[in-house]
Amino acid sequence: PRLANQIAAGEVVERPSSVIKELIENAIDAGSRRIEVELEAGGARLIKIRDDGSGIAEEDLPLALSRHATSKIESLEDLEGVASLGFRGEALASISSVSRLELVSNADEDPTAGWRVVAEGRDMEPRVSPAPHPRGTSVVVRDLFFNTPARRKFLRTEKTELSHAEEVFRRLALSRYDIGWTLRHNQKALHQLRPVSDAAGGERRISALLGGKFLDNALHLDIEASGLRLWGWVGLPTHSRAQADQQYFFVNGRVVRDRLVAHAIRQAYRDVLFHGRHPVFVLYLELDPAVVDVNVHPTKHEVRFRDGRLVHDFLFSSLHRALGEARP
Ligand code: ADP
Ligand code: MG
Repeated sequence: PRLANQIAAGEVVERPSSVIKELIENAIDAGSRRIEVELEAGGARLIKIRDDGSGIAEEDLPLALSRHATSKIESLEDLEGVASLGFRGEALASISSVSRLELVSNADEDPTAGWRVVAEGRDMEPRVSPAPHPRGTSVVVRDLFFNTPARRKFLRTEKTELSHAEEVFRRLALSRYDIGWTLRHNQKALHQLRPVSDAAGGERRISALLGGKFLDNALHLDIEASGLRLWGWVGLPTHSRAQADQQYFFVNGRVVRDRLVAHAIRQAYRDVLFHGRHPVFVLYLELDPAVVDVNVHPTKHEVRFRDGRLVHDFLFSSLHRALGEARP
């Protein structure tokens, strides 16, 4: 199983940021309200994710590390419209096969309860021992790729790995305003984000994550039609800091990079005199989970809409109208 896990790890675990993404998604799936991320050396030396979610019961701890063990899906029908971010039961097994992984968790209210398992890329049953932890889970991943030198060589500088990690953090923090987040790197706090519940709070978070310039002359929109809702912020023509990478699109709370979506947005901007400008946006599309498949591929951010035409037209016309009305 170790080799199989290491091979599977090649698909999910490319670099520290991919580990961070999987661990944060698990914390979100566990219903956490606070998620703390701590990194050292861009995440290559240490990744620690602490959450206050449901926790994992003692008897489930070793299982959580084994391949294809997921608590999130019970039947094939569940696959239709999966609500959780993970469901393949692959991430922890893969990560533990290429790192020194420690899992401490408590599914009880009692803060003196809790259990720890340690896996060091070895082919053996993880041993469970008592370890007090407040309700929730901490996952510590040390020395990523310590036993796969060929992969380790592909890691870039600390700065580059950190910027990938921050990007993952940014996307996930933009996907859940109701969760409080912190990000620390080499003992230094990079982000401390309180949970927010209104548009003003949302704007504070966006400024903190994307820079205060992002909202200069940006337009807030919230449009609903035929079972679809589009809300968020788009940069206007005079936007002073149009950065190519500040494009965030979420479908039912998941980060998505999709051709149909990109096309609809580009068309709308092009029509409203954005020639040659790069659109910047943070946009959220919400629709009935039954009419969209967000699980096309574990790492690519594609989606499949049952009625692509409808979604495309809705995005295009909503943006077109909002941008057109805002035009000076
Ligand atoms: P998946 O997320 O696809 O189910 P993972 O390998 O990421 O697979 O996780 C395996 C299982 O471990 C999950 O199904 C869940 O039951 C448990 N788990 C992992 N992380 C957490 C967490 N932070 N809080 C609670 N349970 C967790
Ligand atoms: Mg997972």
